[in-house]
Amino acid sequence: MTELMRAMRLHAPGQLLAPDRVPRPQPGAGQVQVKVQACGVCRTDLHVVDGELPDPELPITPGHEIVGTVTAVGEGVSTLALDDLVGIPWLGWTCGECTYCREGRENLCPVARFTGYTLDGGYAEYAVADARYCFPVRGYRAEAAAPLLCAGLIGYRTWRMAGGEAPRRLGIYGFGAAAHILAQVAVAKGQQVYAFTRGGDRQAQDFARRLGAVWAGGSDESPPQPLDAAVLFAPVGSLIPTALAHVRPGGKVVSGGIHMSDIPSFPYRLLWQERSIHSVANLTRRDGEEFLALAPQVPVVTETRAYPLEQANRALDDLRQGKLTGAAVLVP
Ligand SMILES: [Zn+2]
Ligand SMILES: [Zn+2]
Repeated sequence: MTELMRAMRLHAPGQLLAPDRVPRPQPGAGQVQVKVQACGVCRTDLHVVDGELPDPELPITPGHEIVGTVTAVGEGVSTLALDDLVGIPWLGWTCGECTYCREGRENLCPVARFTGYTLDGGYAEYAVADARYCFPVRGYRAEAAAPLLCAGLIGYRTWRMAGGEAPRRLGIYGFGAAAHILAQVAVAKGQQVYAFTRGGDRQAQDFARRLGAVWAGGSDESPPQPLDAAVLFAPVGSLIPTALAHVRPGGKVVSGGIHMSDIPSFPYRLLWQERSIHSVANLTRRDGEEFLALAPQVPVVTETRAYPLEQANRALDDLRQGKLTGAAVLVP
C-alpha cells in the first residue's frame, strides 16, 4: 500500500494552496528522500502562487528552503547517508553540458529545474531531491537554517555581485528575510549598512538597527552619505532609480529578486558616471557551499516565525502584507 503524506499544493495560479493527501515521494536513482523538518516561505513562492512566473508544473508543492533528514537514499548516491541533516535549495537540477553549466554559471542553465516551481518542493511532510544539489547543514537547527537556503544564498550572491566586502557603505533596500541575514554578514565584514524600508515602517527600521545597521529609514529618504553599492530585495521597480540616485559614481545597484514591478523611466544622469544595474538569477552550488560555510562563522542568527504546514496560506499572506520581521517557516 502506498503511504500518503500531507502537502500544501497549488492547483491554479491565484488560488489558495489546497491541503492535499498525496503519495509519499520515493527517491529515484541519484535522489534522496528527505523528511521535511522545516521549510522557509520565500517571496518567490508568492510569485509562483500569484502566477507571476511562467509555466509552473501544476499542481505544484511550493517551497525551496527545505531542511530535513535523509530517510531514503536512491541508487548510486554516495555523498549523503540516512539521518543526515540536509538543505534543499531552489536550484534542483541543471544539464551540466550547456555553455553556462560548463562556465560555472549553472544558475543560468536554460533547462534548469527549480524546487517548488518545476519540481515539487517542501510545503509537505516529505520531499525528494537530486543528491548533487543538496547541501549538508551544520551548526543550525532545522527551523533556523531554513531561511539560509534561499534568503541567505540569494542574498549572498547579490552581495558578491555588488562587490562583496569591498564597498564600505552598503545600502540594502527591502528589509525582510534576505536583508536580515545579509546585514549580519556585512556588519561582520566591517561594512556600514544603510537599511531602506517602506516609508514609516518603524518596526523594520528598529529591526535593522538592532542587527547593526548604522542608518535606517524609508526608501523615500536619502542616506546621510552617498552609498558605495546598493542591493535590492523588494520587488519594487521604482527602487532602481531611487538606489541609483543614492550611490556614488561607479557604484553598483544589484537586484536580488526573481520578479519586480516595471522600472519607471529615469533621467540618464542617474546612470551616468559609470553607475550600473545588475540582476541576480538563481544560485550556483558554489554559492551554497560558500555561504553555508560562512553563516555559522559570522554567526548569522535567523529570526523566524513558525507556522504549522496547514497554515501555509496564512504565512504567504503575512509575507505579502509585510507583517513579518525575519522569515516565515513552515513546520510539518
Ligand atoms: Zn546547463
Ligand atoms: Zn527563494
